[in-house]
Amino acid sequence: MPETPSTTRAPEPRGTAGAVRQVRPRTEGWQQAKDETGRPLLQFASPKRGKPPVHLADLTAEQRVEKAKELGLPGFRAKQLEKHYFEHYTSDAARMTDLPKDGRDELVAGLLPTLLTEVRRLQTDDGNTIKFLWKLHDGALVESVLMRYPGRITLCVSSQAGCGMNCPFCATGQAGLTRNMSAAEIVEQIVRANALIRAGELGEAEHADERVTNIVFMGMGEPLANYARVMHAVRVMTDKQHGLGMSARGITISTVGLAPAIRKLTDEGIPVTFALSLHAPDDELRDEMIPVNSRWKVDEVLDAARGYYEKTGRRVSIEYALIRDMNDHPWRAVMLAEKLNARGRGWVHVNPIPLNPTPGSVWDASTKAAQNEFVRILNDAGIPTTIRDTRGKEIDGACGQLVATEEDERAAANA
Ligand code: SF4
Repeated sequence: MPETPSTTRAPEPRGTAGAVRQVRPRTEGWQQAKDETGRPLLQFASPKRGKPPVHLADLTAEQRVEKAKELGLPGFRAKQLEKHYFEHYTSDAARMTDLPKDGRDELVAGLLPTLLTEVRRLQTDDGNTIKFLWKLHDGALVESVLMRYPGRITLCVSSQAGCGMNCPFCATGQAGLTRNMSAAEIVEQIVRANALIRAGELGEAEHADERVTNIVFMGMGEPLANYARVMHAVRVMTDKQHGLGMSARGITISTVGLAPAIRKLTDEGIPVTFALSLHAPDDELRDEMIPVNSRWKVDEVLDAARGYYEKTGRRVSIEYALIRDMNDHPWRAVMLAEKLNARGRGWVHVNPIPLNPTPGSVWDASTKAAQNEFVRILNDAGIPTTIRDTRGKEIDGACGQLVATEEDERAAANA
């Protein structure tokens, strides 16, 4: 959410004389790019920029072997590199003493090129949450947020530099899509986080073998708009022999609703957790809040989400940021419950997301009373509903807020 509202106006009383106040979405402090029909511009294709160097994590196991041979070394060296990268979290040739000195640097440079340069790190006082700002090979900036919870460690990863979905509340989308990230650039965020955890730099360790257990694709970008690379990255994350060996269930892919890509994801048969950022149950409001809704409407997206549940048996999460007098009306909770229940029981749960108050903004937080009423209506309708923890907000790292500031740009220039 934008932090500084461009305009302020006197708050209107809520629910007076039977009238229901309806705040309409609009951008504050920036202009939304529009297409020739006057609708918010949607960018699906990645602008052409120099591709990041090919990295081990971009390749299949067979391709890695081939690449090692191309570099004049026997294929089994690729397996040794995998071990260094996915188990020891290192790309440092000097630490790979099991590799022959001759050709080691070339092998490492050829398969483990530098992808992310750390520009900045912000850590909360308790040390349990860290936000990273990374510079990619072409200067594009992305972020990830690492969070320690009791019994699990979650990393919120970026999948694109910028975003082409142009949501009016989102800082990331304001500058449009810079480019898709490669599979290895996505995976590298996890490997770097694991290296930091192993070095004991994330709060108080619970045990020696800690690493990232959960991934949420809720950083910069719309993951399903970068489908092939995100799916390759997920395969590397879950591959027990040639990757990080993570549990698919611990990986959450979140989307604003690219229905054909949801159906494609369904057919992959990988039981990741699927989250739909819905934010409104009616097309009238959702068209304005989430511009991609003009392509794929609420009903089509909910049908696709239900299809995901049917195929994978994985309960779908519906994300719903509660915004004062915009989408938090009791009638919308009723409509949401009806639309979900119309597609069966037990297939979905709703995560209302409370925002930080931003008085004077159209993107203000719901009142506690409105929030409680919204949750009550859904629970009474038999839909499990839990308020989501928005820990990252403490350091301005929650979803939709991940955008490089001018200060970041300056820091990146010096990195
Ligand atoms: S909310 Fe998500 S999909 Fe929308 S512009 Fe921001 S990053 Fe993109």
